[in-house]
Amino acid sequence: MRLSQRYEIPHISTGDMLRAEVKGETALGLEARRYLDAGDLVPDEVVLAMVAGRIGRADALERGFLLDGYPRNVGQADGLDEVLKPAEIDLVLNLVVPTDMVLERLVSRRVCASCGAIYSTSTPPKVGWTCDTCGGEVVQRRDDTPEAIKNRLDLYDSATAPLIERYAKSGKLAEVSGAESPDEVAKALVAVIDEYHRRGGAPTQGSFQGVL
Ligand code: AMP
Repeated sequence: MRLSQRYEIPHISTGDMLRAEVKGETALGLEARRYLDAGDLVPDEVVLAMVAGRIGRADALERGFLLDGYPRNVGQADGLDEVLKPAEIDLVLNLVVPTDMVLERLVSRRVCASCGAIYSTSTPPKVGWTCDTCGGEVVQRRDDTPEAIKNRLDLYDSATAPLIERYAKSGKLAEVSGAESPDEVAKALVAVIDEYHRRGGAPTQGSFQGVL
C-alpha cells in the first residue's frame, strides 16, 4: 500500500481481489471461498484471468503496477509472462521472514473488514476493535486459523519458493528482510526500487540485497 502510494501505481493484491469477490457473493467468489478458507490456491486459470483483466485497465497500462501475492507457482509465473509479452516484469521483491515469525504474525493478525487495514493483538486499534482509519470492524481473517495457516506455509514451500531461483536467474530478484517494523521494511523496499531506477532498470547478476 505504501509503495503504491509512493510510486503512484495501482496495488494489485490477488488476495484482496478474491476476498472482495467472496464478500460480494459473485459467482467467482462463491467458487473461490472454499479455497481461501482452506488456505488452498485458487485454480491458476481463475486467478490469471483476474490479474490479466486488472493489469489491462487504463491506470495499470499507463503507470505500471505492483502485484502482491501473485505469482504463487510456476504456472502462474508462466501465465504472467505470456500476458505481459512483449513487456516483462521489472523487479521481483522477496520479503524474507523467518517461518516462526510468519506464524506468530499470522496468528496475531487482525484486519479491518471494511478497508483491509492491518492490526495485530499487540498493535490493536486505538478504540476497541474499530478501525482507526475508517471506523470499520477489526476482525480475524477467516483463513488465519492454525489449519489454514499450516496449509498456506506448506504451499509456500512446495509451490512458491521455487520461483525465487527463477527470478534470481533472470536478474529480477531483490531480497529484503521483512523481519523489521512496517516502516523499516517500507524504507528498505524503497531503497531497492530507487536503486533499480538509478541503474536504469538494468538486471543484476543473481539477486541484490535491500539495505536497512
Ligand atoms: P493473501 O491475501 O495473499 O494471503 O491470499 C489469501 C488467499 O487467497 C490465499 O490463501 C489463496 O487461497 C488465495 N490467493 C491469493 N492469491 C492467490 C494466487 N496468486 N493464486 C491462488 N490463490 C490465491
